[in-house]
Amino acid sequence: MASQPSLTRQRRREEPAIDNQHSAISNALMHPDLQHLIQLQDLDLAADRARRRIAELPAAQQALDARVAGKTAHLAIVKERIAADQAARREVEKELAAVQGRLSRYKGQLMEVKTNKEYQAMQKEMAAAEHDVRAHEDRLLEHMEQAETLAAELKAAESALKAEQTVTARDQKTLGAEHAEIEQELARLTAARSEVVAMLSREVLALFERVAHGRKGIAVAEARDGLCTVCHVRLRPQAFNEVKRNDGLHQCDSCTRILYYIPVAAPGSAAQPS
Ligand SMILES: [Zn+2]
Repeated sequence: MASQPSLTRQRRREEPAIDNQHSAISNALMHPDLQHLIQLQDLDLAADRARRRIAELPAAQQALDARVAGKTAHLAIVKERIAADQAARREVEKELAAVQGRLSRYKGQLMEVKTNKEYQAMQKEMAAAEHDVRAHEDRLLEHMEQAETLAAELKAAESALKAEQTVTARDQKTLGAEHAEIEQELARLTAARSEVVAMLSREVLALFERVAHGRKGIAVAEARDGLCTVCHVRLRPQAFNEVKRNDGLHQCDSCTRILYYIPVAAPGSAAQPS
């Protein structure tokens, strides 16, 4: 913001005179209305910043919630895959039991066959059943390996969620503390504003608010090097000379902001514009 540096300098000027002789001089020379309007501007800008930050907090909170939701969703997916794998494994176990049953029936029937041809046919059936058993056992082994992989994934997903919850809880606490701090700051700014407003006449306050309303909240501007530092329009020399006296309220012809002037400091002075 264009007016920021000048407000910083203004703050410095309000410090005790023993710290900065130049400050004391310019403060003493500045009309009280002008000093109060600069303070009012400073307070309003600070309150605006505080309100903007408060407005951002719900989105920051939602971003934290989304991070936890993401990890929770991933954990749910891993759990679903485990359930699906377990169901498939039970199916293979059931099939294996059936094939094993068939094989033991064949073994029992083998003793009862009468002919060599029947015996050979039975041997062939048994070989096929044994092959089936091995195939099912292989599939079971695959499921067991898959279960191990999934168990590791589950553990990782659980600890990732836990870690995210820890970080998020900490960040939420920070956000909450920040919110409380800003609310406190806002209350302080509002109280300070009332004090400043009480020192202004109704006309001066109305002027400030009218200009602030029409000029995006910036009603006060520094005049420097013959220019209004906010709208950058050159003042008439006579107008700039009047502003330089800081002895009343002068408005910029172009943007209507109320102008003040910071005398150029002697070299080495802390109040010298940077
Ligand atoms: Zn201007």
